[in-house]
Parts: sequence; structure tokens; C-alpha cells
Amino acid sequence: QSKKEGLGRALAYTAEMDAATREKLELEKGLREALEREQFEVHYQPQLDMFGNLIGSEALVRWRHPERGYIPPGVFIPVAEENGLINPIGSWVLRTACRQNRAWQLEGRAPVPVSVNLSIKQFEQPNLVEIVQSALADSGLTPQYLELEITESMAMNAAATEGTLYLLKALGVKVSMDDFGTGYSSLSYLNRFPIDKLKIDQSFVRDLFKEESGASIVATIVAMAHHLKLSVIAEGVETREQLEFLREQKCDQVQGYYYSPPLKPEAFSRFWDELENGTKKG
Ligand code: C2E
Ligand code: MG
Ligand code: MG
Ligand code: MG
Repeated sequence: QSKKEGLGRALAYTAEMDAATREKLELEKGLREALEREQFEVHYQPQLDMFGNLIGSEALVRWRHPERGYIPPGVFIPVAEENGLINPIGSWVLRTACRQNRAWQLEGRAPVPVSVNLSIKQFEQPNLVEIVQSALADSGLTPQYLELEITESMAMNAAATEGTLYLLKALGVKVSMDDFGTGYSSLSYLNRFPIDKLKIDQSFVRDLFKEESGASIVATIVAMAHHLKLSVIAEGVETREQLEFLREQKCDQVQGYYYSPPLKPEAFSRFWDELENGTKKG
């Protein structure tokens, strides 16, 4: 009896493993073709200051799979990081975002930075600086309008973080610390690394009023950022209450569904127009 059950469990387990392995192989195969078949898109999420002005955007990659529809980056980026495809994909995102941001400027819009996420694999590429440089040169985007997002764990684990960051900063681009507060317990890197901005992780914003400590944590991060002369943006802002709290704390910027999800470039342009025409909520 129990032997039989054990066998059943083992078989079920194997079937599950098979399904997971098959899925990963599928994704890998698809990813290899996705670049040349132009199945990636970059969507842009608006970033606003506390007066409701647009002050930037974050570029977020999407995979428009021919059969499965949009596959979110959380699903395919880990696979791409494992098989090395993240480097060409990441370079494509970088070039696309620079080109798009330059195109908005050429339309006569007020220039604002575009923020691009880097994977640790990209960060460790020996020619990362050249890749960034050529994305800027080819698009004609001025370096101050490009921001690169790294994470705490990346900063702590990459082979040559400090040197790479200083070289990137020397180009004139900005660097921000994404998902701040979730990655690493030591704050000593804040003095060591040339960082411009902290991005408060969305989990802290989500729990703002849920736990007693929620509000203290967010208030403390904002105050700390300002003491260190860094600017600070809150991610994942979904409600007016969260926005009001962040405003009281003198947080500089916000990003989240309260204003807008990530948008295709055309929709982003419309959002921007509506904001400037004052037809959008403040
Ligand atoms: P992230 O850089 O922290 O990006 C923010 C994520 O939060 C995005 O998810 C965005 O759509 C989502 N988000 C924005 N506002 C809200 C909100 O109000 N509520 C909630 N619940 N979520 C919100 P997305 O686009 O699925 O990206 C997930 C992660 O994938 C990103 O987290 C980033 O780590 C990674 N990623 C995205 N694009 C790229 C890329 O081009 N390169 C690399 N290396 N990583 C990327
Ligand atoms: Mg990010
Ligand atoms: Mg984040
Ligand atoms: Mg993240």
C-alpha cells in the first residue's frame, strides 16, 4: 500500500519535473528566435514628481510570444540570464530605449531621462561601457538622459562593481539603486558607490499602512536618501493615500499604477500629452 503511494508520488514528481524542464527548454528555444524575429517590445512607465509633472520613464522589456501572448520579464529574464541571451537582449533594450527617448526629444518634448534595468550578467560584461557609449552615440541621446538601474545584490556580487560604476558615471549617465531595501543589509556601499537615486522597493509601499513599521521604514529611507544627498523615488504607488504619505515625507518622485502602468510608446506619448493639457488627475 505505502510502497504504491510512494511510487505514485515519485511518478507525479517526475511528471512535474518533466513539465518544468520542457517549459524551460521551450522558453530557451523561443528566446533564441525572439530577437531576430523582433518579438521583444519595450514599454515605458511614467515617473512623476510630487507636483504631477513627468520627470522620466522606466523602460521595461516584454516578449510578445506568437502563440502565448505577452510573457513578462520575471519569467524569461532568469532563463535568458542562464543561457547568456540576456546580453544581446539587454543591449537591444538599451539601444531601443535611447532611441525612443531621443525621438521624444526630437518631437519637441521637454527632455527627461529614461531608466534602463541592467542584469548582473550585463553589468559583468567587460565591454559594458562601450555598449552604453555606442547606444548613446547611435541614438544621439545626451548621457544625462540615460539612467541605469542596478540592484543591491548586483552591486555586492559583481566582480568589479566600483570600477564599472565610476566608468559609467564618467560617461555622464545616472545610476540608481533599484528595489532598495530588499537586497543586502550593509549600507556601507552607499558611501562607496557613485549612486544618484534610490528606488524604494514596491513591497515597502504596498505594506505602508499594513504593518505598524511600514510607514517608519519608508519615512526612514526617504530621510536617509536626502541626508546622503541622493534623490528618492517610490515604486509601486497604487493609491492616493500612499501618494499623500510620500508627499508628506518629501519623497521626490513616484512611479506606479496610481498614475499609469508601463505603456507602449504611443500610449506613453498620449499620457504625456494629457498630463501637460491638465486633463489628468494630479
Ligand atoms: P523593476 O525594475 O523593479 O520594475 C518594476 C516592476 O513593477 C515592473 O514589472 C512594473 O510593471 C511593476 N509595477 C509598476 N508599478 C506597479 C504598481 O503600482 N503595482 C505593482 N504591483 N507593480 C507595479 P515588470 O515589467 O513585470 O518587470 C519585472 C522586473 O523584471 C523588473 O523589476 C526588472 O527587475 C526586470 N526587468 C524588466 N525589464 C528589464 C530589462 O529590460 N532588463 C533587465 N535586466 N531586467 C528587466
Ligand atoms: Mg527597475
Ligand atoms: Mg524595482
Ligand atoms: Mg526588480
